Amino acid sequence: MDFTKVTKISRFLDPSQGYAEVQRLSEVRVDPLTGHTTRILDFPIKQLVKVDISSLVEKSRPFCPFCPEIRDQVTPKFSPNLLSKERFTRGEALCVPNPFPYDENGAVTIMTYDHYVALSDFTPDILRDALMCCIEFLGEVIINQPGAIYQSINWNYLPLAGSSIVHPHLQIMASSSSTNYYTSVTSGLSRYKEENRSPFWPDFVAEEKRIGERIIAATHDISWIVAFAPMGAFDIIGVISNASKPADISDTIMDALVSGILNILKFIDSINLYSFNMSIYFLINNESFTPHLRICPRVSLPPFDTSEINYMRMLHNETLTTMKSEEVCNEVKPFFAS
Ligand SMILES: [Zn+2]
Repeated sequence: MDFTKVTKISRFLDPSQGYAEVQRLSEVRVDPLTGHTTRILDFPIKQLVKVDISSLVEKSRPFCPFCPEIRDQVTPKFSPNLLSKERFTRGEALCVPNPFPYDENGAVTIMTYDHYVALSDFTPDILRDALMCCIEFLGEVIINQPGAIYQSINWNYLPLAGSSIVHPHLQIMASSSSTNYYTSVTSGLSRYKEENRSPFWPDFVAEEKRIGERIIAATHDISWIVAFAPMGAFDIIGVISNASKPADISDTIMDALVSGILNILKFIDSINLYSFNMSIYFLINNESFTPHLRICPRVSLPPFDTSEINYMRMLHNETLTTMKSEEVCNEVKPFFAS
């Protein structure tokens, strides 16, 4: 398996050193499955200061459709022609149709009664109940719509990550149309199998274990790995073994999934980041595809809240980061130690 890394050297005359010639290094890394390229810059960023989001939380509260006083009155219900239930519920979680769907099956799972939950305040129960609601929804969709094979559970946490609603919620998609990510993964899987005569995902986990620089933790059910060529500032992948569709997520797998996600949220919080995107990907009836999860933090840079998404990501689809995956792995490991 190729973990291709090209070191680039840039030379210029530096005014801070009397215009002596200096060198700056950067790296181009290529994802071993998709070929996605990421640039890791030699640009030391000072420890970020914790952002106070209390005014965002309070400003958003009066207009929130997900708060418990009104969520039952203002959220839609599933059509009885499609699903057996009008809404799926479990604990505090409530799964309802997304009134502004991206696809034929778009749903939202409101995770909590609380309008705002800080990263460090999510509990196993909150996550388990919300994910189980999503899984129940996805399991029902596939019964009547066998073509809705691209199934994912997604999370935009806070506006910086693209969420228009502060109240914690997951977004669920079950589609007959691929996304660019699924397309690049499935073509990578085919290419890998053709070239190596073996499936990618088990090889990937075995190779990351052998190298040992990016593997955070591994249990029978999930291996947690920092992506070699991240899709964001960093990118943690959870490879879910022993499951192929959402309904295969057993209690044991769910426990491992939930505790890993909570560990990552605590890590994100510990470095004073406060927002992230997460996706859990399934592809139904595709033997080569192993369900997996990715979490990337979202970052804006002081003093002007500069977006991390500049022309490189927007128009070249090229990730820029300053964080080396191997260093992130060392930092996140203690959060998985227990
Ligand atoms: Zn709310």
